[in-house]
This record gives sequence, C-alpha cells and structure tokens, in this order.
Amino acid sequence: MSSEAETNSAPTVSMEELVSLCARRGFIFQSSEIYGGINGFWDYGPLGVELKNNLKDFWWQRTVRERDDVEGIDSAIIAHPRTWEASGHVEHFADPLVDCRACKKRFRADQLDEAGPCPARKGSSEHDFTETRSFNLMLRTRIGASEDAASTAYLRAETCGSIFTDFKRVRDASRQKIPFGIAQIGKAFRNEINPRNFTFRSREFEQAELEFFCHSDETEKWFEYWLERRLRFYREIGFDERRLRVRSHSADELPHYCKRAVDVEFLFPFGWKEIEGIHDRGTYDLTQHSEFSGKDLSVMDEATKERFVPAVVETSVGMDRTVLALLANAHEEETLEDGETRTVLHLHPAVAPIKVAVLPLSKKIREPARKIAAELRRRWNVFYDESGNIGRRYRRQDEIGTPFCVTYDFDSETDDQVTVRERDTMEQERIALAGLEVHIRGRLEAGI
Ligand code: ATP
Repeated sequence: MSSEAETNSAPTVSMEELVSLCARRGFIFQSSEIYGGINGFWDYGPLGVELKNNLKDFWWQRTVRERDDVEGIDSAIIAHPRTWEASGHVEHFADPLVDCRACKKRFRADQLDEAGPCPARKGSSEHDFTETRSFNLMLRTRIGASEDAASTAYLRAETCGSIFTDFKRVRDASRQKIPFGIAQIGKAFRNEINPRNFTFRSREFEQAELEFFCHSDETEKWFEYWLERRLRFYREIGFDERRLRVRSHSADELPHYCKRAVDVEFLFPFGWKEIEGIHDRGTYDLTQHSEFSGKDLSVMDEATKERFVPAVVETSVGMDRTVLALLANAHEEETLEDGETRTVLHLHPAVAPIKVAVLPLSKKIREPARKIAAELRRRWNVFYDESGNIGRRYRRQDEIGTPFCVTYDFDSETDDQVTVRERDTMEQERIALAGLEVHIRGRLEAGI
C-alpha cells in the first residue's frame, strides 16, 4: 500500500486505450450511443455486466452472506422526500458552480485546475467566470398526475438513506442486536456539474454501502475493523498494492456530524482518486430521522438498561469506479519473447467475466468440444469459439481477462485429454477430461 506522500511508478494504461478496449469488446460504452450519447450515463455490455455483477456478488458475499452480524436490503430508489430533508441533502447536497460567460461551459469552482483553456475568448485563453453559486446535485422527478410542489420527489443521491429509515423494521425482523450492520447495493443519482473521466464521475452510478450500527463508545474500534476489512477486500480481488492508498480527511473537510473519514484511493491514469469512503457518522442519521419522522429510533441496552441512539460507521464504495479501477489495474500491454505484443487483462478469476473458453482446434471436432462447454456452463460463464486460428482466439480471450482456455484437438479424440492454457503465464498442460472441472475449480479458487 502506498503512503499518501509517495508518488507512484506503477505501470498505467492510458484512458484512451482503456475506453477504446471497453467499447470494442463490449464492456462499457456510452448510453444511447446512436443518438450521440448522453453526458454522464453509461451502459454495460455483455462483458461489463458480468464483471460488475461478479464484483457486486463478491462484495455481498464478504459483507453480508458470510457474516451473521450484517443484513442485506434492496430498497426503492425513490423515498419519501422527508428522508432527504432529514439527511440534509435537500439543503446542503450541493457543489459550488461557476459559468464561463465566453464559452458557456459550467465548472465546479473547486476543480478549476481541470478546466483547461477557454476555447471562445479572443486574445486570452482564460475563462471569464461568473460568481460562484451553489448547485444542488439531487435529481428531481414528479410523482403522480399533479404538477404541484407536493408531487416532487428525488432520485436517491446515495443508497444509505433507506438503510436508516428501515433500521427499526430490519432490526425487529432479523432480531439483531447492536452492534450489527445493514448493507445495500443499488443505483444512485447525482446531477454532477461536470461528469468526466469515463465512468469515474457519472450522473447515474451504483454504490455498495454498509451502515454498521454500534454504541458511540465503540465507533473507533469498528472504524479500524471495517477499514482493515475493506483493504483486505481490495487485496483479495487482486489490486496492486502500489496503486492503493488511504487518505485521511482533514478536520475542515469533514461535515459537522462526521468525526473521522478516510478515502481509499486508487491510482487511475488521471491520478489518485477516491473509490471508497469510510466514515464515522456518529449518531447523526438516526437522530435526524427520529426527529423528522417522530419515530423513536433509539435502542435499549439489555445489560445496562440504558437507552441510546446507535452511532454509525459507514463504508461506501462506488461499483462503477471500482470496475474502472479493476480494469486499469489489470491491463497490460505485454511484449512477448518473439517481439510480438499482446493485450492482457490480469483480472482476478473471481471477477473475470468469462472463466473458461472452450476452443476446438478444428470445426470438424466441434461436437465433443461443444459437449465440454455445455458441461462447464452448468457451473461457470463459458465462452465457446470455433472460428479463426488458435493463436488469435487465445489473444481475444487474453484481452478480456479469461483465465483459462481449454483446447480440444485431434489427440483428444483418442486420449481423452485436453490442453488447458493459462492466461497470465500462457503455460499449457494436458489434463484428463474426467478431471477437467475439478482442475479448473481448484485453480479458480486459488486465484489462478
Ligand atoms: P467525490 O468527492 O469524488 O464526488 P464523494 O466523496 O461525493 O465523491 P461519496 O458521497 O462518499 O462520494 O460516495 C461514496 C462513493 O460513491 C465514492 O467513493 C464513489 O466511489 C461513488 N461515487 C460518488 N459519486 C459518484 C459519481 N458521480 N460517479 C460514480 N461514482 C460515484
């Protein structure tokens, strides 16, 4: 793990290469592309959806399924508007905005170093900025047939809102006692002034959030615990330690209710940027929702008979930013011994969109190869490809991060063995068909 002060020499792919690979191979591309796209919105194609689902499954597995002190929910995107008044979003969830009078572009006042020269001014390349004003990032919509103010609702700006409003119901239904957590993965929407850097800053994105409820006296302990767990998660899915670091927020960056916050940052091709925030939110959330809803959200400590409002340690990570980080982390343009280059995504098998490709050496032996693919498909996402020369087929799989290629050749017909080629080392082994599934499972579970 890099320290905050360190500059980093980890190899990095250019954004142009990454964006082009993503579009060409169907990971991620502009939404409504045939109409020229829509700024800040992205679609995940066949490989992208698998990659993102694998990441979400892995997060859910680690955060919810394998623990008995965390419950999962899937709440509505639109909540009662009072939810967002209580949380402070309606009043305060805003970025500072300036307009350029010359080129008419809008910028975040706190990111003007990224504005670049003004394309419209004569005799100067400097923008002609207006005064800074506050711009609320909540996306609004209307519900029902009436057009009056009472029908205004908001698309959630983060997924945790409903975790707080559902707190009592989930606790009662699951019979959990403090400390315990509630987790959710889902869409969030922000009317970002300047969506940029591909999916990094978009207007619609997905978050995976955990709100861990504990006694105020124990927040420090749980903060350390969850920070360690989250860093372990990044290691587990193959992040290069040199491209990850933890940045602590200074006191003037913290909202008034937040006692401590750290960002997990990744070294993107455009610099160190946040992928996750871990926050000590104190008792702010349940106190606010108690007050605004009139429902008491405090709990009783059975041992001491003390009533208290639980405090919250939050871990909040963007799935889209993490997918982008995974792709940048995995990408390599490798020069081979014969001087040729190959593009390879060294994705961890847990997140790789396709786990195995089955390739018959010739179309003449397609039937047994198809049978192998059908067998393996019962367990994994398998790609079957019989066209083109075998080297080119391997390269196409390397480029999308498929850990294993299984080749069925003419010898296979008599010796009941296949060649298993591994993506990273390109090593090939002959494996008996009868043990193929066990062999692949072992390698996948070991992380190749
Ligand atoms: P930033 O400062 O980059 O705008 P933030 O501090 O507002 O992010 P949080 O509100 O803490 O972000 O949200 C938690 C996570 O949700 C972020 O770490 C990020 O991964 C993700 N996220 C937030 N905004 C966006 C966005 N516009 N596009 C994609 N992901 C986002």
